[in-house]
Amino acid sequence: MQLYDPYDYPLYRPPSEAYSLILQVTIGCSYNRCVFCGMYQTKKFHIKPIETIKKELAMFAEHYRHIDKVFLADGDALSAPTEFLVSVLDAITAAVPQCKRVSCYATHLNIRQKSPEELKLLASKGLTLLYLGVESGDDETLKFIRKGTTAHELITLSHKVGDAGMDLSATFILGINGAERDNTQHAIKTGNIISQMYLTYVGLLTLRLEDGSYLTKEAAEGRYTVVGIEEVVRELKIILENIHTEQMKAPVIFRSNHASNFLTLKGTLPQDRDVLLEQVNRVLKRGVYPEHRKYYL
Ligand code: SF4
Repeated sequence: MQLYDPYDYPLYRPPSEAYSLILQVTIGCSYNRCVFCGMYQTKKFHIKPIETIKKELAMFAEHYRHIDKVFLADGDALSAPTEFLVSVLDAITAAVPQCKRVSCYATHLNIRQKSPEELKLLASKGLTLLYLGVESGDDETLKFIRKGTTAHELITLSHKVGDAGMDLSATFILGINGAERDNTQHAIKTGNIISQMYLTYVGLLTLRLEDGSYLTKEAAEGRYTVVGIEEVVRELKIILENIHTEQMKAPVIFRSNHASNFLTLKGTLPQDRDVLLEQVNRVLKRGVYPEHRKYYL
């Protein structure tokens, strides 16, 4: 079969899926309401026909010999009906038997809507990692960004994922409230929620205004101001200070190495919390200046 480009662009994946096969099974995001997100504003959400997906898989399997991980795009592939996802996972096993892991983005709504049995079934078929944008542990911030959920629900949903035998990777956004709103509560409660959620990975991002997002329009009209680097690093410090290591039940890999971040941190919680905090304090003590675009420790 001739190699062709099957993708509906723009196409996104988590940084950690850089070497995975991207299999687009849904188009867009079924939620599409978060104020900071412009990723899928140009797309109308729909599910791709299973026959199209099988054809693409056969083509990828013929041309790429070393596929060991598959990422299901777009924005919340978990929103698709369980029966459909089982067909996709079975097709992956048939076409790429050497595949060791399948993952996808998920929203709180997707996880809420799936029963524990459905999640277990999907995990048994190979879908063993979900990426969830939590963004904040603060209910006021979650309301501001129109996340449509609460910190309490996010904690509960994370344990539902863990009980099903899946790993969960959560992202949080530094500077999300902008200069007009309270970022301290956002940081304190984000530290708290990291301590209480079932998580395998935590990734910190820094807010960037994306084309097409509501916040970008608000900023253009003077109602939203992106915070400076020093404020972002201060938030990072408060988050780390408010991670209650004694509440953490399992190791969590902690990263702030996304391209959007000024300060790159890597460690495993709970044991590296104090070392990470010390690194942030050192940077704050030295001084953070606007001309610092990136800081590697
Ligand atoms: S952040 Fe995630 S859930 Fe929110 S609109 Fe963007 S893709 Fe959808």
